[in-house]
Amino acid sequence: MALTNTIYNSPVFQQACNQFDLAADILGMDAGLRERTKRPRRCVVVSMPVRMDSGKVEIFEGYRVQHNLSTGPAKGGIRFHHEVTLGEVAALAMWMSWKCSLVGLPYGGAKGGVVVNTRELSQNELERLSRRYMQEITPFIGPNVDIPAPDVGTNEQVMAWMMDTYSNHKGHYDPGVITGKPIALGGSLGRREATGEGVAWFVKAYLEDLGIPPEKTTVVIQGFGNVGSEAALALYQWGAEVIGISDFTGGILNRKGIDLKAALAYVAQHKSLQGFPGGEPVSNEQLLETECTVLIPAALERVITEDNAGKLKCRLLAEGANGPTTNEADRILAERSDIELIPDVLCNSGGVIVSYFEWLQNLQNYYWTKGEVFDKLYRMLAKAKASVDETQKKYQCSRRTAALVLGISRVAEAKAKRGLFP
Ligand code: NAD
Repeated sequence: MALTNTIYNSPVFQQACNQFDLAADILGMDAGLRERTKRPRRCVVVSMPVRMDSGKVEIFEGYRVQHNLSTGPAKGGIRFHHEVTLGEVAALAMWMSWKCSLVGLPYGGAKGGVVVNTRELSQNELERLSRRYMQEITPFIGPNVDIPAPDVGTNEQVMAWMMDTYSNHKGHYDPGVITGKPIALGGSLGRREATGEGVAWFVKAYLEDLGIPPEKTTVVIQGFGNVGSEAALALYQWGAEVIGISDFTGGILNRKGIDLKAALAYVAQHKSLQGFPGGEPVSNEQLLETECTVLIPAALERVITEDNAGKLKCRLLAEGANGPTTNEADRILAERSDIELIPDVLCNSGGVIVSYFEWLQNLQNYYWTKGEVFDKLYRMLAKAKASVDETQKKYQCSRRTAALVLGISRVAEAKAKRGLFP
């Protein structure tokens, strides 16, 4: 059932709602519980005046959507991107609810966004904007209410400024308010690698199920940021060949394998892959249709569409990004049946799992080794994979719907058991 009379209405929000409906149909959820579980609980829209280096004041718009608060404090990243919309943030918040619940974290789901092109800001302007956003959302978040984290366009440094702003407001050091921080400020060992490492873990596990060994595996990745680059490194270390990478400027293909260290050094110096000499330049569209064993979208939503789903030439589609596949593309992929899909809520869950570990370490003031972090992470990923595969068999549905059935049913059950107040 379309949810159109809402301020969140947008193609990506509708995409998340349509995915929800497929799972809710399988669960036979009644209309009341269905609406209550689907709709975001609340949102805040903030307007942020920031003094630019020129002395001029610019006003930026930001959002925080808390989709679910029934199963614990909300949790979800903050995106800085010039095309961010409230509807997109709401869809991302919804996916966080299902993801946390699917992997068994005691969290709800949330997401934040600021409409800004960070490439147009100086470091000082970025700091002032990050601090202002945190100041504006401070009344709505906290270690027991809602715990943000990094997403597209934000990183450890941004988390550090935000944690500092919140702590200054509270009058004491309070690292548990945000995750993805630098190690020196209560960050967790392994958090930077966690999402990409988790994506690589699922890729390896599903390739093993398919009987495809590392030396016969080629990998193409869209988006060479935190998630894409860490997944690339982990799969290369396992023995696979990464033959294609890309960012917002376009892609690079090299059938003999891309020198990832050289690519990372190039991006650190030039801020993008444009002009990287280690392969032949291609467009992002061409990159997605490249023949490979594993295709990993690790950038933005809605890049696998009805236009290219029929043309993909991969065996495994591993969703590092949130929402990369439209509903129409899902239907085409289901008809093709030659591509295994690892859905976003499962595939990129390593990030929020290690964010949870970071929060636990902050609350306890007791810090773990990287070995302990990864050992606990892999065990949670294995449990989630087994439960999704079992649910898929039980309901004879797509792997995405199976993952959502698990995530949604746990949230819905918690809401039903809590009852209505008053
Ligand atoms: P990031 O900002 O570190 O990297 C994003 C990358 O995508 C950059 O290389 C950027 O140039 C590229 N990109 C942007 N627009 C593009 C376009 N139109 N075409 C091709 N490439 C483009 O962000 P990230 O943290 O790596 O997040 C990537 C995805 O993973 C997002 O969907 C995010 O929601 C999801 N995710 C991130 C985390 C995390 O821990 N960071 C966790 C779970 C899911």
